[in-house]
This record gives sequence, structure tokens and C-alpha cells, in this order.
Amino acid sequence: MTEAIQTKPKRANSQRAFAGATPVMPGGVNSPVRAYQAVGGEPIVIASGSGCCVTDVDGNEYIDYVGAYGPLILGHAPQAITVALTKAIARGTAFGMPTEAETALARLIVDAVPSIDVVRMVNSGTESTMSAIRLARAATGRANIIKCTGCYHGHADSLLVQAGSGATTLGTPSSPGVPDAVTQHTLLVPFNDVDAAQAALEQPGDVAAMLLEPVAGNMGTIPPNEGYLDALRDLCDKHGALLIFDEVMTGFRVAYGGAQELFGVTPDLTCLGKVMGGGLPCAAYGGREDLMRQISPDGPVYQAGTLSGNPLAMVAGRATLDALREPGVYTSLAQHSKTLAQGLGAAAVQAGVPARCTTVNSMVCCFFTSGPVQNYNDAIQCDTNAFATFFHAMLDQGVVLPPSQFETWFVSTEHDNLMIERTLHAAKKAFRTVAQKQR
Ligand SMILES: *Cc1c(COP(=O)(O)O)cnc(C)c1O
Repeated sequence: MTEAIQTKPKRANSQRAFAGATPVMPGGVNSPVRAYQAVGGEPIVIASGSGCCVTDVDGNEYIDYVGAYGPLILGHAPQAITVALTKAIARGTAFGMPTEAETALARLIVDAVPSIDVVRMVNSGTESTMSAIRLARAATGRANIIKCTGCYHGHADSLLVQAGSGATTLGTPSSPGVPDAVTQHTLLVPFNDVDAAQAALEQPGDVAAMLLEPVAGNMGTIPPNEGYLDALRDLCDKHGALLIFDEVMTGFRVAYGGAQELFGVTPDLTCLGKVMGGGLPCAAYGGREDLMRQISPDGPVYQAGTLSGNPLAMVAGRATLDALREPGVYTSLAQHSKTLAQGLGAAAVQAGVPARCTTVNSMVCCFFTSGPVQNYNDAIQCDTNAFATFFHAMLDQGVVLPPSQFETWFVSTEHDNLMIERTLHAAKKAFRTVAQKQR
């Protein structure tokens, strides 16, 4: 049987726009993964978004699973947010003085997230983890932190580390410009490995905190093994270290109360971002009262921000959380994501392409590997060339995925059955293209 020949969508305007960007910005982008280096080719340049779709500057429409890398759980330009923002803009965009909007969102966060009694708003996930670590070090009087290889916590110096040799290792900088002295205090362990965490906590040199994504979302989507988070909770308590959940991605996404609600494990400190800002630059960190009262001006631990608690971000966040409290939202997100992940898995089998498709509620990933994926070492076994082929085959059919094997696909409330069906239809063909190349 022959397939209808599909003409490649025209991308002349995207090409022109991107050619204008590269002379004035590194890689033509403001965050590296957007530049398509992992999949080859050039990025589409976006003109607008609506619901679960984006439109590029050539007028091509795509079903979008980038979701702005996590914030857009309600899809693009949801009416509740645009209305709230339009009203707020007319009242002024920043004051540097307290507003009621800050308290309103803080109250919603405290009510939603089990570990958070008191919260501080910041502007990015990076700021959030950096500040939580400072607080953990101040509160414990210890310097070392434990991080899982492959978990991403933003680009603060102490977190830009890579593993040396050995199972439990001192980190070395993963970027030029980060002094060894900074990463010497960061210990690396594999995700989902209780023994490695225990060994790191028992090493000489006391550990202030273990920081991790409770569902790893920056090396694809990797759920925690049964009992892993509980074991970390016990180990941290035993060794007087704090447990920090970086829920910048999972907060208000895998459940309203985040992964800590979903898995029933309460950390000492929690980092939030992405969904809580409704698509505006916004993040937060929070935790137990006795810890958070050590933050300036209640306590001595300094942390500040000119635009922190920005009124536009506050109303966008509030409108988002209000929508997410509607009954059935998370059930429906989980259902659609499961249909997508299972459908992708089935399509891969049909095409004879080795793949492991994972999902934790509205986070989805398709790993191009035949083995189980439990940590970073497993994830990097993936055939990234196969992913690149798949990515471009999907893009040509009007589905835009995050342009790397190691990013999570985000399902929003706007991805309905029809959109999932259309995605799977495209995926069947894309897997066949991958299979043809592998032969
Ligand atoms: C995105 C992300 C960050 C960094 O947030 P930015 O707002 O990009 O600084 C930190 N941690 C996790 C888990 C993330 O997914």
C-alpha cells in the first residue's frame, strides 16, 4: 500500500525570523533547548497559541506538547487568565509595595501543598532552588547537599554538576565558569537508588539537604520507585538533613498538592514554579514555619527580588489554581495522558521500534530504548537519533514535541480525545519512519 505523499509544511518565515535572531542572541534563543541542537534543523518561530495548539509565523498550526516547558496546564491563552491579566494590567504592572494579590496566591499555595506553612515568591525555578539550598544550609549549619544525577534544578552554580567516577561521587562543574570550590559541596547519587543516598548521607562532612525532583522530569519522565521517597524521608530524618522536593515541574501538575500529595511523602522545603505562575515569570519556595521564619526580614537568611510577587504573575497564578480546583480536572488530565502514553507504546510495538513510554498524570515521555528507565544512566541508553527522526516526522505532521529525548511532554486540559487521537495517528506514521531508517 502506498501512502499519500505529504508535502512538507512551508517554513520560510520561520527561517527568516530565526536568521534574524542568531546574530543578536546566543544560538538565536533565550534558553538552550529551544535551539533544536539535539534534533537538528531550525526551530519554528511562534506567532500565537490557543488551547492546545500553537501557530508559527508561516501560519502552520501544531498540536503542542511543549506547553512552555510546563507552565501551561490550561493550554494557551485560557480565557480566565487573559481576563484576569487584562484587568490587572490596567491597575499597574509593579509596585514594590505589598498587594493583596500576593497574599491571595500565598494562601492558595499554603492550603494546597502539604509541606508549606509559609511561602516566599520569587521569579524563576532557579531562584527557588538556590534560595531553598541557602536556607537549608543556614538552618542546619552544614554545607553539603545531595543531588540526583539527571535531575535539573535550574542553573545556580552549586547545581551545575556532573558525576565523576564511582557510584557516590563529589560533583565536578558541568559548565565552565563554575569554580570547583562551589561544586565540592554537591554530592551526586543516582535517582531511585536508596543505598547510594544512604552512603552519601553517611560520608564524612555533614549533609544540609538532599534535593530532588520527586518525579524526575528533566531526563524524560521517570517516576519514583515504590518506597523510594519514603526511604529518603527516613534517611534524612536519621541524619539530621533536610529533604527538599523540587516541585517546580510537578507542583500543581501531577496533583493539585504536587507529587508530595500524590505519593504521601512530606518534604521539609518545597520549590515551586511553572504552573503556579500561569505562564508568567513566577516561582516560590516554602516549607515548615520554623524554617521559613529564618528568611529575611523575619530572620537572617537574605533573599530578595525587585519583581518578586509581581501583581500580574500573582493574578495569573491565582486564576490557574482556581481553574485547577474544578472537580475532575486531574482525573481527566491523567486519563488523556494515559491514552497518549499507551497509544504511543502500542504504535512503537506495531512499527517494531524499541520504546518505553512513561507517564505520571499529565507528564508523558517516550524513551527510544528497549530497557527499563529508572535513572539517568538508563535514560542515556536511548537512541537519540531515533528520537530526532521521530521528532521531525511529528513536526511535519503538525505535532510539536519538546526538541530533546530528555524533556517531558506536557498534556494540558485542552488536549481532548480528538487531539490525542490525531497525535497518535501522526505517531504511527512517525514510528514507521523511524523503523525504515533503522533497517
Ligand atoms: C524548570 C525547572 C527548574 C528551573 O526553573 P526556571 O524557571 O527555568 O529557572 C527547576 N527545577 C525543575 C524541576 C524544573 O523543571
